[in-house]
Amino acid sequence: MKLAHDHPAPADAAARKGLAPVICYPVEGLARPDLAPYRAAREGWRKLSEVVVPAREARCFAVAAGQFFRITSIEGPQVGDLNLWAAGDLRERFYSGKTRALHGTHLSAGDGMWSSFPTLRRMALITEDTLDWYGFDDFGGAVHDVIGTRCDPYTHNLLSGGGQYHHCCHSNLTRALADWTGLPLREAEGHVHDVLNVFMCTGFTRDTGQYFMKASPVRPGDYIEFFAEIDLLGGLSACPGGDCSAEHSSDAAACHPLLVEVFAPVAPPVGWVSPGVNGYDRTHGRP
Ligand SMILES: [Zn+2]
Repeated sequence: MKLAHDHPAPADAAARKGLAPVICYPVEGLARPDLAPYRAAREGWRKLSEVVVPAREARCFAVAAGQFFRITSIEGPQVGDLNLWAAGDLRERFYSGKTRALHGTHLSAGDGMWSSFPTLRRMALITEDTLDWYGFDDFGGAVHDVIGTRCDPYTHNLLSGGGQYHHCCHSNLTRALADWTGLPLREAEGHVHDVLNVFMCTGFTRDTGQYFMKASPVRPGDYIEFFAEIDLLGGLSACPGGDCSAEHSSDAAACHPLLVEVFAPVAPPVGWVSPGVNGYDRTHGRP
């Protein structure tokens, strides 16, 4: 936290601080997809499956390349922690940090969810977000962040002086992945990764740069929709924080289930091609 100022500012401090920021990754380098063909592909689509993720639990679900999935708020305000893996290889998984570098701190329609190295490709494209009206509020908060991690029992243990809580999103996702794959719990745990915080409203405080959350604006009926660019395995946890209006890692908050639905279009979006793995040759400068 940048609270202490032990060193005096140099004479040119104002000039140094006044330099205009430069966007790290120019958006021109990453063509923003035209959502019209994706949205048109919903016409006549067929619902293949659904799973209700119980409060303070997680569930996995499969989505084939070319299909859509939706996460919908039901019953009450609730945030969800989303993991994505390539269906055939759990080593390829959602890369929250790189997605943040490419798209900013919070995602909405038109943004991708990118995979880890060495594949680095768009695993999913967000095609609809009923909370896009929220934008950024006066505190700098916004919805669907890629700045948080996932609530976990280790941090809880650290901060609570030894507490044992088993329904943090990290544990929920670990159990769900173990159940889906048949992997031992501890092996499954190693595949759980930083999430897209679905419906969560977060930001950084302007004075101290601290990660904050506030009550999610989500209401039953709100949804976020994704297009699967490759065969996916998803994991979604209905966070024990509920709407995340207060501290959590306990069963104190009001929690609600979340609905995941998978849809198959009649035909893929016009012009869509499933992305191949990243084109870097991986020689790292050595022959
Ligand atoms: Zn959580």
